[in-house]
Amino acid sequence: MKTRIADLARPDLTDLEPYVVKDVPHKIKLDANENPFDMPEQIRKLIAEEVGKHSFNRYPDPAAMALRELLAAELDVSADQLAIGNGSDELINYIIAAFGGGKVIFSSPTFSIYGIFAKVWGTEVVDVPLSADFHIKPDDIISAANAGGRSVVFICYPNNPTGNCFSQQAILDIIERSNAIVVVDEAYHEFAGETFLPQLEQYENLVILRTFSKAFGLAGLRTGYMIAGRRIIREIMKVKMVYNINSLSQKIALILLEHKDEVFPYVEKILRERDRLTQRLDGLNKITPFPTDANFILFRMESDAEAVFSALLENGILIRDLNKPGLLENCLRVTVGKPEENDAFLDTLRDFYEQR
Ligand SMILES: *Cc1c(COP(=O)(O)O)cnc(C)c1O
Repeated sequence: MKTRIADLARPDLTDLEPYVVKDVPHKIKLDANENPFDMPEQIRKLIAEEVGKHSFNRYPDPAAMALRELLAAELDVSADQLAIGNGSDELINYIIAAFGGGKVIFSSPTFSIYGIFAKVWGTEVVDVPLSADFHIKPDDIISAANAGGRSVVFICYPNNPTGNCFSQQAILDIIERSNAIVVVDEAYHEFAGETFLPQLEQYENLVILRTFSKAFGLAGLRTGYMIAGRRIIREIMKVKMVYNINSLSQKIALILLEHKDEVFPYVEKILRERDRLTQRLDGLNKITPFPTDANFILFRMESDAEAVFSALLENGILIRDLNKPGLLENCLRVTVGKPEENDAFLDTLRDFYEQR
């Protein structure tokens, strides 16, 4: 029997491209919104101690109870209002696994993972694009959500890649008036300070996503969490991979939480650098940085976005090229790095224009 794999694969996934992260040589990495600072030495030491005595032969706690209990105390919710994911990406997958099959609604440009998993689960995607000034359109989202069938709405807050927080009232309208699970993705919460956590008690359809990947600097260990009502968490637990978070990640996330006071000075530092970087970009001719609440800055060039991206890469600086026709025409995104990294970035930009 000779069958082509293409004939055995799901036809609705024919056009889905595998997510690839291009491996281009670079020295300074400002493309993925990671924390640029190394972990404090004293925390590294505690992790080394843990590795020294860790029971690698045992399966992890499938409920990640120790981590959930500490998070619950931190957030003033109960442990059964929490689920832990192998990165919040995995939780996005679970939300669509549990509540998909109808529609997944989001507003582009936004985080690409919502659309990818919608497709994987064969769920219809409804894109209600942002306005030209990067705001959501609550009425359009609500009509899409209430058009019949099940819906999940994803709202990225602050939004990646535009960097802004949408109007709180607009989001509240969506939570209140749409017959849908409404996911507020707060991956950059620690930089923005804004949150819908206080609304959780009032709205049963609200889900909040957080992660250790950004402010906590644990992107490599893949740990994220969701906060929601018990009924939602119960549905997530049905579809969750049993041992989804490895035991070491659970422990290290715990250690970081216990020492969050030593991690947070880095957030302050990143915020100061963000303001400096924004001001300097604003001072450059032909570049408009957009206001941001996160640890990255979207900026628009009058022209030459491609040439600028290449010039940066030639100097070993990798940022994110988002330039395509539409709302992000001529736009690039830079993650706030260490001061010397940001300087190298700014110097290259300045040289680029001086040479013309
Ligand atoms: C980075 C990011 C995440 C976090 O992903 P992890 O899987 O937790 O690393 C989630 N949502 C958005 C919008 C992000 O930018």
